[in-house]
Amino acid sequence: MGTPQAKTGVYLDYAATMPMREAALQAWEETVRTLQATPGNPAALHGGGRHAKHLLEDAREKVAGLLGVSRAEVIFTSGATEANALGIVGCWRAHPRSPGGPVQVCAADHPSSFQQAQTIQREGGIFNQVPIDANGQMQVEYIDPQATVVSVAAVSSEIGVIQPLPAIAAALGEDTVLHVDATQAIHTQHIDLAQLQVGALTLAGHKIGAPVGIGALVVRRGVKLHTDRPGGDQESKRRSGTVDVAGATALATALEICVQEREDLIAHTKKLRSQLLSQLPPGCHATVKPQLSAPNIIHLSLPTAHPEAVLMRLDSAGIWASAGSACHAGVTRPSRVVLAMGRTQEQALGVLRISIHRTTSADDINRFLHALPTAVEAGKALDALG
Ligand code: PLP
Repeated sequence: MGTPQAKTGVYLDYAATMPMREAALQAWEETVRTLQATPGNPAALHGGGRHAKHLLEDAREKVAGLLGVSRAEVIFTSGATEANALGIVGCWRAHPRSPGGPVQVCAADHPSSFQQAQTIQREGGIFNQVPIDANGQMQVEYIDPQATVVSVAAVSSEIGVIQPLPAIAAALGEDTVLHVDATQAIHTQHIDLAQLQVGALTLAGHKIGAPVGIGALVVRRGVKLHTDRPGGDQESKRRSGTVDVAGATALATALEICVQEREDLIAHTKKLRSQLLSQLPPGCHATVKPQLSAPNIIHLSLPTAHPEAVLMRLDSAGIWASAGSACHAGVTRPSRVVLAMGRTQEQALGVLRISIHRTTSADDINRFLHALPTAVEAGKALDALG
């Protein structure tokens, strides 16, 4: 069977995944080729192994330097889902008060953090969510100073809200570990791990232009972590499994550019966001106040309960965006996060996420704005059928 060919559309779904950056692709390819010529597992003691280890440690050093931590604090993972699981569950299991004291996760967070509830409860722990307010921000007064771990996505993948990290840090108990999921935040936010008392931090390669299959968990010195996968004791016994050296190299390169271009990205996406929000059709509006959200993630509320029809119509106009609500087996469910903001079921259904980058142009936004009214009408036509 041949590979289906998709025509390239206007890509407005960077928060789902970002194409590889040219420099990251080059770094990846160079590493793959050098490892082909000089093979070796970084754990092997021979010359090839030492060479691979050298490349891996160079990548680790670069990631650590960009985040202001030391090399020993960086653990490479397969991505953000794994890093969130390892960070939240691993810090809880190793906490001196475990299983006592709740693990608290922000209600706006990604399912990969949220869904750690089952594991924690199965092992006798307490799990609860920290509610968000009508703006989507974490209500810090609900942070329990007895919590062993508090986890928050610094920028929500769904609604793009920026969480108030300084206020969150100030509400923590003395021995509470703060885990920050920076997967969507690293593009636009400078996170000072020391100042914000961050104990652990998650990153994903493919959200910043490195390949899918690589990510990182930073665990600060002094924060204990129980591994969730015994095995070959790689990554200082904290994450077993052979590390993807080429992926790590690409991650380091992508992160370097991500940090370097942060201010430009903020300026560029702010302009495009203003353009987009100023020309929305009637009934459509930003779900979160722009001043509280990352400019590269624009979450829209629409006057229809059929976002899948909106998306399909946009798709046929060559516009690729994302619905914030989950569509399972053809049934669209209201967004858990928008419901947590206190909105109605209907409001939590009619949502659309636009996520943009430096390569997004004013013309791309114009094309989206041109297609949106008809797409919303398609959703409303389905509403009318009941
Ligand atoms: N955390 C956040 C904030 C995300 O946006 C995502 C993915 O969208 C993840 C975690 C999980 O990332 P992955 O599916 O690449 O493991």
